[in-house]
Amino acid sequence: MENGDGNEGASAFHMPEWMQIQFADQKQEFNKRPTKIGRRSLSRSISQSSTDSYSSAASYTDSSDDETSPRDKQQKNSKGNSDFCVKNIKQAEFGRREIEIAEQEMPALMALRKRAQGEKPLAGAKIVGCTHITAQTAVLMETLGALGAQCRWAACNIYSTLNEVAAALAESGFPVFAWKGESEDDFWWCIDRCVNVEGWQPNMILDDGGDLTHWIYKKYPNMFKKIKGIVEESVTGVHRLYQLSKAGKLCVPAMNVNDSVTKQKFDNLYCCRESILDGLKRTTDMMFGGKQVVVCGYGEVGKGCCAALKAMGSIVYVTEIDPICALQACMDGFRLVKLNEVIRQVDIVITCTGNKNVVTREHLDRMKNSCIVCNMGHSNTEIDVASLRTPELTWERVRSQVDHVIWPDGKRIVLLAEGRLLNLSCSTVPTFVLSITATTQALALIELYNAPEGRYKQDVYLLPKKMDEYVASLHLPTFDAHLTELTDEQAKYLGLNKNGPFKPNYYRY
Ligand code: NAD
Repeated sequence: MENGDGNEGASAFHMPEWMQIQFADQKQEFNKRPTKIGRRSLSRSISQSSTDSYSSAASYTDSSDDETSPRDKQQKNSKGNSDFCVKNIKQAEFGRREIEIAEQEMPALMALRKRAQGEKPLAGAKIVGCTHITAQTAVLMETLGALGAQCRWAACNIYSTLNEVAAALAESGFPVFAWKGESEDDFWWCIDRCVNVEGWQPNMILDDGGDLTHWIYKKYPNMFKKIKGIVEESVTGVHRLYQLSKAGKLCVPAMNVNDSVTKQKFDNLYCCRESILDGLKRTTDMMFGGKQVVVCGYGEVGKGCCAALKAMGSIVYVTEIDPICALQACMDGFRLVKLNEVIRQVDIVITCTGNKNVVTREHLDRMKNSCIVCNMGHSNTEIDVASLRTPELTWERVRSQVDHVIWPDGKRIVLLAEGRLLNLSCSTVPTFVLSITATTQALALIELYNAPEGRYKQDVYLLPKKMDEYVASLHLPTFDAHLTELTDEQAKYLGLNKNGPFKPNYYRY
């Protein structure tokens, strides 16, 4: 990356008229809260792609008795089209309802459809996508379609596809190649069916985890001649892109959506603030009031967890290694401790450091009976779960994702999701948070597709700040929030454009 922030393209960046922030006294067509459909999905769980992007996954039909592989079935949608491969096209109607429910919580994408309608900023775009195939993704795909793009899609995770949503997309003409429970061979076959098509070549990539990008690099490197850009959603995929860039092998511009402010702040902080309680409640039915909890790490995720638990009346302790975050914890009213000091008394231990061996066997030995132990960090390295696999300890699976580990004296601890991400394994992620990410993806595609020659080089970029601000502004009408517009005098005083960007790139929010 040049200049260290990957945003040098932003200086030349001009947003089209329809993509401007609307202020309170301007006409707001999209500020009406949509009528809620009075039904939520039946069962929702979270699945994981490259372990770092999230989606809600619901299914009415998991217990499908049809064992035939979708690859061996001949299916057509009601218009006679067979360019798709899903579990069962007949589930389309259920899937359509899931998509309609998701639309209610994805106001920005719906607004984008209306705002851009005349312009079709993605006319001529041929987008190949590889993401979780869920109702939220369907809303994104249909938005891209409404903005003029043609899309072909595969799943980035072998378990996360909602079969009925895939069916609904296939029914409405999207070539979707995905089903829940694909084999590894199926996974690559589906990706290949998206890119290896006669008479159709992608010119944009939307990836989550980097597998699609990797496949095209490996099998069809010539395709990059026509590809205008890659939009990548996950930590892992972004990491791969930076590696390619460093090795001088990245041959098109790429947008790192993962690190945009609107994703980081909302996914990590607000998503965790909501899903920590959900994950704990679903697995343990516990009451939070008065419980003593220690949260390890006071970054974005830790702040979200602490705020939620404090609001429920828990007594919250925090551990930190960084004096700045530690001071923040103190100022927010939490007791900063070392884990050793409270480990005997706490009812719940939550890790969210992104580090390893934060909770060791020694800590686990000293916990009190029935202490709940779980992790909200990226990988399962934070709690030393392997140290519990010793002969003197007995493991008892009491529920899906809940293990009791029992010591010889009868003490037991409650280990959730075997130390993997609690909310990915045991709860849902709010659709509204996914809406923010999906809108960022859509805008990144629009920006890369329409950027004039030379704005972006073969490098990895962050979305221009103005677009981040636009993503946020599109979500404000949901709250009937009225943004203040700078006066000319104020804009001049602050040295800002009245339409943004309102903050420098180094601003921390
Ligand atoms: P962050 O860097 O803002 O916060 C992590 C904090 O942990 C830092 O303040 C750091 O100083 C502290 N820390 C590191 N080692 C420690 C230790 N040994 N003891 C105590 N504190 C320690 O990161 P974040 O955005 O809060 O993310 C934390 C983790 O959660 C990452 O692994 C991230 O990938 C993951 N994550 C999870 C979700 C989710 O939905 N569960 C969402 C986003 C991110």
